[in-house]
Amino acid sequence: MITIKNLNKYYGKTKVLNNISIEIKKGEIFAIVGHSGAGKSTLLRCINGLEEYSDGSLQVNNKEIKSLKKENLREFRKKIGMIFQHFSLVQRKTVYENVALPMQLWGYKKEQIDKKVNELLALVGLDNKKDSYPNQLSGGQKQRVAIARALTLEPEVLLSDEATSALDPNTTTSILNLLKEINEKLNITIVLVTHEMDVVKQIAQKALLLEHGNIIGFDD
Ligand code: ADP
Ligand code: ADP
Repeated sequence: MITIKNLNKYYGKTKVLNNISIEIKKGEIFAIVGHSGAGKSTLLRCINGLEEYSDGSLQVNNKEIKSLKKENLREFRKKIGMIFQHFSLVQRKTVYENVALPMQLWGYKKEQIDKKVNELLALVGLDNKKDSYPNQLSGGQKQRVAIARALTLEPEVLLSDEATSALDPNTTTSILNLLKEINEKLNITIVLVTHEMDVVKQIAQKALLLEHGNIIGFDD
């Protein structure tokens, strides 16, 4: 479903991704592992079209990302959910409002939004926190809100950028279990970036080791 071939990425004259080739299949949980600065986030941002790669090929469902026009890119990005280390919630909005946001931006009807938000809050185990604000939640709960929000537009892929790095080990495990459940129940492909080997061991089916922009290992 995601095919990357001989991809290179430069920032100015600095090469941050060197000749990356990967095949990620539908339904997989695929990890990209490496130290800080290895190029993990850059690769993830290339996959969701937030960042342009310099050369090589990156196809999602047989579509070359680089050749997508602006309006198609917007449509394409709808199919890709993303979660982050620091959750990226809107502080002055409630849990419900945070999760509803993407559907509102896309102009969905109120009833559709209500149905979806309630369904997802139940899935992530937060139906009793609808009216809470982010600062009233634990780290794990905040990430659950972010996960629900990432699923509202029914993506085919969920990208996770260090989503458990700010959480303690027990909370990390509960979030990883939730991600596994989402992968199995909703058949969503998960690509996760992490610097923690423990995370990889707990969840990933395949893992790629990245160092200074190079693939230095592959584990399947
Ligand atoms: P990781 O996610 O593995 O920590 P990044 O993808 O964030 O690594 O960064 C890879 C390298 O690219 C680092 O050396 C970083 O400093 C550099 N880099 C990241 N983003 C930019 C940018 N927008 N401009 C210039 N250099 C960048
Ligand atoms: P994270 O560790 O969460 O990936 P970073 O602090 O590495 O975040 O990067 C935050 C932002 O700064 C990103 O948008 C990234 O592209 C940019 N960035 C990172 N490194 C550099 C750099 N060396 N020069 C310019 N921008 C950078």
